[in-house]
Amino acid sequence: MKLTVLGSGNFIPRKNRSNPCYLLDIGIETIMLDCGSGSLHQFARADRSLWELRRIFFSHLHLDHIADFIPLLFTRKYLQPNFPIQNLIFYAHPNFNSFYHELIELFSKWVVDERYSFEFQSLDTDCMKFNGYSMEIFQTAHTPESLILKFTENGKTFVYTGDTDLTETLITSCRNVDCVLTELSSTDNEPSEGHLCPSKIVDLVRQAQPKRVLLTHISPQNDDNSNVANEIQSTLSIPIQIVNDLDLFEI
Ligand SMILES: [Zn+2]
Ligand SMILES: [Zn+2]
Repeated sequence: MKLTVLGSGNFIPRKNRSNPCYLLDIGIETIMLDCGSGSLHQFARADRSLWELRRIFFSHLHLDHIADFIPLLFTRKYLQPNFPIQNLIFYAHPNFNSFYHELIELFSKWVVDERYSFEFQSLDTDCMKFNGYSMEIFQTAHTPESLILKFTENGKTFVYTGDTDLTETLITSCRNVDCVLTELSSTDNEPSEGHLCPSKIVDLVRQAQPKRVLLTHISPQNDDNSNVANEIQSTLSIPIQIVNDLDLFEI
């Protein structure tokens, strides 16, 4: 598995951190996890192609995680490559279904083209199997549609938590996995419900014992605090790292 960070920020516009978006090369395909505002531009910065994409998974339906979804379809239609491209499949909580179809209807003239087919599938089962990998789904505490996605390929495990609070389900989903990509958008001084702050990350790691933790969805408060990663790391023995846009990780 190879992880490419396209966006390591939250919803607040900043020079160095785009909205949440990640590419995962897994099995024989490239998938995308979330597609926040600015994700298309980040494809170009990372020197990656939109045509590589086979599937897009949305962790939840907040706009910092889905806003480039219609622009992505618009760009795929009008770029018109002269080679056959793969069908694109979107996945999200079943509550995205009606929103998805309303958006497609609203923008159909500019996104629908029979040469570039795409479809939506609800994430309403606990486990899905794809080409060379599988994915488990866990509901988490952030919004009613928030999902944790756990990928397994050849015995290696990777968890993307999306936005989340600390819950028993989060701990279960991260237990002993090879790598967790989770969020750091809250602070211990002003913890916000539905998000993780440094002390909750320490709790999560102590209880779940993952082998490695990557922190993303970085808020300006945490970005401005250069000690935050060191403080989290100082009490833990596994590697903890704040990621940056365009970082690459082998999992
Ligand atoms: Zn978010
Ligand atoms: Zn959110």
